[in-house]
Amino acid sequence: MSIVSNSLKRIKPSPTIAVTSKAREMRAAGKDVIGLGAGEPDFDTPDNIKEAAIQAIKRGDTKYTAVDGTPALKKAIQEKFSRENNLTYKLDQISVGTGGKQVLYNAFMATLDPGDEVIIPAPYWVSYPDMVLLAGGKPKIVKCSEKNEFKITPAELKKAISKKTKWLIINSPSNPTGSCYTKEEIQDLSKILIKNKKVFILSDDIYEHITYDGFEFFTIAQIKALKDRTLTMNGVSKSYSMTGWRIGYGAGPKDIIKAMAKIQSQSTTNPSSISQAAAVEALNGTQDFIKTRSESFKERRDFVVESLNNIEGLSCLKPNGAFYVFPNCKKLLGKKTNLKTDKDFVEKLLEKSEVAVVQGSAFGLDGYFRISYATSMDNLRKALERIKSFCEILT
Ligand SMILES: *Cc1c(COP(=O)(O)O)cnc(C)c1O
Repeated sequence: MSIVSNSLKRIKPSPTIAVTSKAREMRAAGKDVIGLGAGEPDFDTPDNIKEAAIQAIKRGDTKYTAVDGTPALKKAIQEKFSRENNLTYKLDQISVGTGGKQVLYNAFMATLDPGDEVIIPAPYWVSYPDMVLLAGGKPKIVKCSEKNEFKITPAELKKAISKKTKWLIINSPSNPTGSCYTKEEIQDLSKILIKNKKVFILSDDIYEHITYDGFEFFTIAQIKALKDRTLTMNGVSKSYSMTGWRIGYGAGPKDIIKAMAKIQSQSTTNPSSISQAAAVEALNGTQDFIKTRSESFKERRDFVVESLNNIEGLSCLKPNGAFYVFPNCKKLLGKKTNLKTDKDFVEKLLEKSEVAVVQGSAFGLDGYFRISYATSMDNLRKALERIKSFCEILT
C-alpha cells in the first residue's frame, strides 16, 4: 500500500520542469548545455518594481494582508482592466493569488464536481489537464491542427461541448505555440458559446503584453454577452519578468471569485505582502520597457523561425506572441532516423548536441517540440547551429 493518494496518482510532475532539471544536471557534470526549455523571460525585473518592494519592507508591509489581495493591488488591477482591455470590474470581482497558477487552481477547485468536463485545446500549457484532474474534473482534450495555427475552430468547439462541459480554456498568446486568437476568431468562437449558456470560459491572458507585428490583443471577456461567464486570468510573471515574485490575478463573476478566496483562505492565505506592493508598481508605473523588450523578443523570434525553416526536415510557423515556437519534426521520425517519437528526438538532441527543448507530446500534440527563445541571441545562434548539425546527421 502506498501512502500517496489516488487523486495524486492521476497526475504527473511538470515535464517542462523535468527537462530543465535534466539540463541542469548535465551542466553540473561539466557539459555545455544550452537550455531552450525555460518558460520565463530572461530579463531582470525592472528597477522601479524592485524599489517598490524595498520600500514596502521598510514601511513594514510585512504582515498578513486580505486573503485575496490588498485593496491597493486590487485597485491597480481594476484600473489595468479598464485602461488596457476596456473592461469594468468591481473590487469584489478581482482575486489575487500566488501566481496565475494558483488562480487557475483555485478556480478549478472551487467549481469542479466529479465528472465535470473542461475543454482544453491542444497543444496546451502542461498544467491545465493535471490541475483539472486534481480538482476531480475531466480534461476534454481537443487536438488542434497546425493548419489552423494550433487554434481551436468553432466546429471543433461545437463538437467538444457536452452536457457535462463546465469550462473552456483559451490561452492567447499561447504557451507552447505562440499563436494568438484574432478578434474575429474570438467572435466566431463566441457565437457557439453564446448558444451554450452553461459553459464558462477561462481566459489565460498571461502573455498579453508579449506580441509582435502590430498584433492587437483581444480577450473574450470583451464580448459583452460572455463577460458574466468569463474568468480572466493574468499576472505579472511574464509581462514584467517577475516569475519569482509569485503574483497572479483573476477577474470575473463575484460568486466564483468568492469561492476561490475560500480555497485560498484554507491553503496559502494571502500572497506575499512585499510582492503585492511590487505588483502595484508594475501595474501603475511606467510601461515603457514592454515595447523595447518586445522588439528584442521579435528579433529572436525572426532569427529562430528563419533558421528552423532552413533546416532539412523541420518546419515552423511564425507566431505573433509569447516567446515560444513549436516546430514540426515529423519528417525526422520513423525508420530512417530510428527515432520513433518526438520524445526520442528531444532526448537524442540533448544527449548528442546538448540543446534542451521540450517534446510536443508533453503539451498534448505529437510530432513537434517547443523552443523557448527567452535567452540571448548568442545562445540562440549556437543552439540553432547545433540543431542544424544534429538534423543533418539524422538525414
Ligand atoms: C507562466 C504561465 C502561467 C502562470 O504563471 P505564474 O508564474 O504562476 O503567474 C499561466 N499560464 C501559462 C500559459 C503560463 O505560461
